[in-house]
Amino acid sequence: MQAAQPRLPEPRLIVDHLSRSFGGRAVVDDVSLEVAAGQVTCLLGPSGCGKSTTLRMIAGVDRPDGGRILIDGAEVAGPGRHVPPEHRSVGLMFQDFALFPHLTVTENVAFGLKGDRAARMRRVDELLERVTLSGFGAKHPHQLSGGEQQRVALARALAPRPKVMLMDEPFSGLDNRLRDGIRDTTLDILKDEGTAVVLVTHEPDEAMRMADEIALMRGGRIVQSGAPYNVYNTPVDKAAAAFFSDIN
Ligand code: ADP
Ligand code: MG
Repeated sequence: MQAAQPRLPEPRLIVDHLSRSFGGRAVVDDVSLEVAAGQVTCLLGPSGCGKSTTLRMIAGVDRPDGGRILIDGAEVAGPGRHVPPEHRSVGLMFQDFALFPHLTVTENVAFGLKGDRAARMRRVDELLERVTLSGFGAKHPHQLSGGEQQRVALARALAPRPKVMLMDEPFSGLDNRLRDGIRDTTLDILKDEGTAVVLVTHEPDEAMRMADEIALMRGGRIVQSGAPYNVYNTPVDKAAAAFFSDIN
């Protein structure tokens, strides 16, 4: 008798032949990805290659012209189908992470939470501890450093336990000295939470540091994808090699 094949886990996120044009120009051109729970996929490429547009369609704030997006097997975007962002179970983090200035840290993190107050407060406390900001709950965003605000934004995005976390250059506003530490902390927390992550960056070293898989983009297309080490060591062409060459 043949042994049963081990079943691979269903990908948490499937992006299937996605495309988007503006004014007749294809900005995202036949992009496909799969991200499992607990995995980080980096969309890496130069400015203007279509990374943010791809992320916006996964978030549901823009609609594709072609292709489909599935989260836990359910179609959230596709021909004749558009599930609004608030019903996709996606967490968002962008460069200008825009905390609500008039709300305290606790209120910011609790913002998207439902359920009874005690359960919401437990979740807030758990996350503030995780981002090492216990004791900061009563402060307002303007009383925090850039790095602290970034960690509050991470806690806020993760609070409702999103199935998919979408991050668009989330560290690029930060001081160089802070960045490595915050990248590592963020990665630890994302792994603990077990969410599927799509991280957009134009910095090869960030992708090398954070990704389980890199999808290298150029001109709206994914030109190469794979484990960071493989993409770095076996560039698909000269342009890919040059893109990685300024890594330190
Ligand atoms: P990246 O995030 O990789 O820098 P974007 O996805 O933001 O790239 O943009 C890809 C291309 O699409 C750019 O040339 C940009 O100018 C264009 N673009 C993005 N959004 C729009 C829009 N709403 N209308 C017209 N062009 C757009
Ligand atoms: Mg962008």
